[in-house]
Amino acid sequence: MNIYNMTFHALEAYFSERGENKAKAKIIFNNLYRKRITNFDLSSRINEILKKDFNFESIKIIEKSSCSNAVKLLFGLYDNNSVEAVLMRHDYGNALCISTQVGCNMGCVFCQSGAMKKVRDLQPFEMVLQLLKAEEELGEKINRVTLMGIGEPLDNFENVMDFINIIGHRHGRGTAPRHITISTCGVPKLDELHEISCNLAISLHAPNNEIRSRLMPVNNAYSIENIIDFTKTRKKKTTLEYIMLAGINDSDDNARELAELVRGVNCYINLIPYNETSLNFARSSTERMANFYSILIQSGIRAVVRKEFGSELKAACGQLSSERTL
Ligand code: SAH
Repeated sequence: MNIYNMTFHALEAYFSERGENKAKAKIIFNNLYRKRITNFDLSSRINEILKKDFNFESIKIIEKSSCSNAVKLLFGLYDNNSVEAVLMRHDYGNALCISTQVGCNMGCVFCQSGAMKKVRDLQPFEMVLQLLKAEEELGEKINRVTLMGIGEPLDNFENVMDFINIIGHRHGRGTAPRHITISTCGVPKLDELHEISCNLAISLHAPNNEIRSRLMPVNNAYSIENIIDFTKTRKKKTTLEYIMLAGINDSDDNARELAELVRGVNCYINLIPYNETSLNFARSSTERMANFYSILIQSGIRAVVRKEFGSELKAACGQLSSERTL
């Protein structure tokens, strides 16, 4: 078993089962996530026990590219698959966008990551290590984590929940839920997340089911009504993401319909400029986006236009690939 797969609770149980004091979990978490040890070579009785059951198998950075405000890292995994993560430098600190699966099965027609079917889920250690390796490589602390890279986080539910638990634990890294954002295209599993304290961003991308079903097959399993109901019953504010696709969902009528749809819902709309892919979609013009945005604002809807990161690196939303392009 990889040591970075272990939640604090699982480590406590591991020690208890062996008649050891479960408080040792605290020492291990401290060693792993604060001192950043990467082996059990230091001889001690506990290390001898751990060595038998756990390994530190890692993931490797096989390519790194940078631009002014972003760094893209390509990670090689133990089975020769690869995934990407992107560091974004905001004025308020660093955020890392990590991948949760190799490929993706959601089939959104505009998304590069979906062009490759899901190969497999990432294990918790492969998500934890995207974060630790990125910090080590860049020599910088990463304060925020967004699950917006390759994959649908809720299609890898248990592993993603373990990951959040591991990086969030106060005896380890202590990344608070308010610094973690899960982005989901909206799958029925979402209904289990009413109480989650992480930030949630749901990919809405259309003002009605007719357009959404054309763009996102998942709409047949979890429709716009499901998303709105979920958002209404959640205590925390939810982000609704809306990609601006020229001639598809960006007209004034679409904006008015969207405003009606989310009126009174505890959310804000994040308008995302479409990033170019090899797929046949075009980004809305700056003017179109500005008109769309003002209709929302004039209708009393909270909205922002997403700041762009890394589009020169093909590191922006929807451009990440599980396929090695080297
Ligand atoms: N599967 C999750 C998270 C990964 S994608 C989800 O669907 O939310 C993160 C966001 O980028 C989603 O809103 C997705 O729809 C969007 N996206 C995909 N392709 C894009 C592109 N080419 N340009 C801009 N955003 C894109």
